[in-house]
Amino acid sequence: MEKENLPPVSFAVLDQVLDLARANSLWPVTFGLACCAIEMMSSAMARFDIDRFGAGVFRPSPRQADLMIVSGTVTKKMAPVLVTLYDQMPSPKWVIAMGNCAISGGPFVFEGQYNLIEGVDKLVPVDVYVPGCPPRPEGLLEGFLKLQEKITGKRRFPGPVERW
Ligand code: SF4
Repeated sequence: MEKENLPPVSFAVLDQVLDLARANSLWPVTFGLACCAIEMMSSAMARFDIDRFGAGVFRPSPRQADLMIVSGTVTKKMAPVLVTLYDQMPSPKWVIAMGNCAISGGPFVFEGQYNLIEGVDKLVPVDVYVPGCPPRPEGLLEGFLKLQEKITGKRRFPGPVERW
């Protein structure tokens, strides 16, 4: 067969396999900012066991992580550190904004406030928002499922609407 008549090589299946592997082995960077981080830690304990979704290996180095869970208040002093950590993570990488502080500044937004970034999406791109003050660990688990759905294009477990 002539070279120009060969079908184009397709990497679509390989991409799907890689996306499936990535979605089921998300490695969060060990990083917490305030009270929401307590709920994030709780989600890794036996009762909620985030390891069931392949995301229990919290990495001490951003270079080994592909997920940042921003769990807490983002102060202006902390902002450059957060951006540096994000920049040090290899691609592809994802961000979950956990809690109202990370989403919009939460209860600390008032006229004249001078110390907070009112939403971490002003610093780094956010893939999933998990609202609450703080969100319960189940909320974070739902955020993981949403992120897996975003990566693979498919939901792995039935959502609340389908279940009830
Ligand atoms: S959203 Fe509420 S619980 Fe979470 S860091 Fe802010 S004040 Fe704390």
